[in-house]
Amino acid sequence: MGLTKIKHPSHSQHYLLLKYPQEPYQCNGCMGLGFGPCYECEHEDCCFYLHEECANAAPSTSHPFSKCSLKFHDKAPQEGERYCDACGEDVSGFVYQCKHKNPHDFHPRCLKLPRTLTTEDGLMLELRKKLPSKCLHCGSKETSNRIQGWCYVSSSDQYCYHIACVKDMVMENWRKGYFNEDGNVKASHLALQTFNPGREIVQPSGKSSSKAKKLWSTAKTVIMLIISALFGDPTTLISVLVQQLLSS
Ligand SMILES: [Zn+2]
Ligand SMILES: [Zn+2]
Ligand SMILES: [Zn+2]
Ligand SMILES: [Zn+2]
Ligand SMILES: [Zn+2]
Repeated sequence: MGLTKIKHPSHSQHYLLLKYPQEPYQCNGCMGLGFGPCYECEHEDCCFYLHEECANAAPSTSHPFSKCSLKFHDKAPQEGERYCDACGEDVSGFVYQCKHKNPHDFHPRCLKLPRTLTTEDGLMLELRKKLPSKCLHCGSKETSNRIQGWCYVSSSDQYCYHIACVKDMVMENWRKGYFNEDGNVKASHLALQTFNPGREIVQPSGKSSSKAKKLWSTAKTVIMLIISALFGDPTTLISVLVQQLLSS
């Protein structure tokens, strides 16, 4: 298999190679975090990365959740802070917007989120525009920055999480540097253990019923699945962490 090599206008001086990085990276297109396959500049000194979805973003696109057609911008043309209507994170690079006066914003990656996810136990999660029930993490139907935001929800509505809330959990740990410590799996493992399924679920103690324990562990599985959808397929590091977490 030959290397996939592309030129991209955002870094036209060098070729970019499709790689499976061993560490999380920050995409120089949308400025978001990534764990999965990405395009990296052939000169490693550049430290230039693009999510696959950002490198291959089409000039225009559409999404079943948006009635409007969406146009790609390498930077939002408006002044001021903008937020992604899917994940609630700020928009500071590549973005899709509709043509309305007060447009909706979407990260290229957010528009490519899988419509369904399935856990190994066969629990199916569906991507939805509106929350059918409270988010288990924040206990609300709205995210903190007044954006309703998309969610993943299980067929019974029992497990419902804002994409924004799951993203926040990861970003918090990223900012603390947990994912940065070259191969320090232990620190990252501890970081992932702090992913709290939420205030709507009681952490089981020794006396808890097996039902409460099951609820807790399924909630963690659900969060991990959403993390891998949000940040890319887990690479070696992340999948090791996830396995450790799920067995603990
Ligand atoms: Zn990106
Ligand atoms: Zn370069
Ligand atoms: Zn987004
Ligand atoms: Zn619109
Ligand atoms: Zn939430």
